[in-house]
Amino acid sequence: MPSVVSSGVRRGLMFVLSSPSGAGKSTLSRLLLQDDSNIVMSVSATTRPPRPGEVDGKDYYFVDQPRFEEMVREEAFLEWAHVFSNRYGTPRGPVEAALALGRDVLFDIDWQGTQQIAQKAQGDLVRVFILPPSMQALEHRLRSRAQDSDEVIQGRMARAADEISHWAEYDYVLVNDDLERCLSQVKTILAAERLKRARQIGLAEFVKELLIPK
Ligand code: 5GP
Repeated sequence: MPSVVSSGVRRGLMFVLSSPSGAGKSTLSRLLLQDDSNIVMSVSATTRPPRPGEVDGKDYYFVDQPRFEEMVREEAFLEWAHVFSNRYGTPRGPVEAALALGRDVLFDIDWQGTQQIAQKAQGDLVRVFILPPSMQALEHRLRSRAQDSDEVIQGRMARAADEISHWAEYDYVLVNDDLERCLSQVKTILAAERLKRARQIGLAEFVKELLIPK
């Protein structure tokens, strides 16, 4: 929502949600996007095969290894990383276009991608890490999704500890033991970050005008 202060377009912010697989990040992202029309999802490219129900161009751009490598060479990615045995990358173009229009961009990326974006654009970046309430709950969520084989789930559990070890590199850390509460905390963070002094266009002019004796 524009404030009385804005006289131009506020530059969008990059809102990263990271967590181990199964901590509820996809659900939180979906609900946030549903409720907030000024934030758009960054759709990543991946070499992993689609899961049942996943749609190309919506959940991911599913590309083969040669195409991914070509995109790396063309510098088409803002960041990219190996996750499990696949590659994932954030296409640069849509993100830059959205930010320039003053729209915020939501990223569901891992700690490696978050570190890369932080090196390039610290000022535009807000990093949120979602923790599961327990490792048992995490495993339970992974199993109840029933989309991955046992072997894949074991791999994801092993990776989860590694992902969690990066929690301290994030600006905000939430425990997702209650989806509604966690969603409301995510919205609160986004609302507060949008109000940061540096992100409010025209604030200096507004205050100057405010102080002119009338
Ligand atoms: P999944 O295969 O479960 O969809 O995603 C596996 C992991 O890859 C998740 O932790 C997700 O956040 C991460 N991921 C998805 N897209 C990207 C991306 O573009 N870049 C990076 N660095 N990680 C990603």
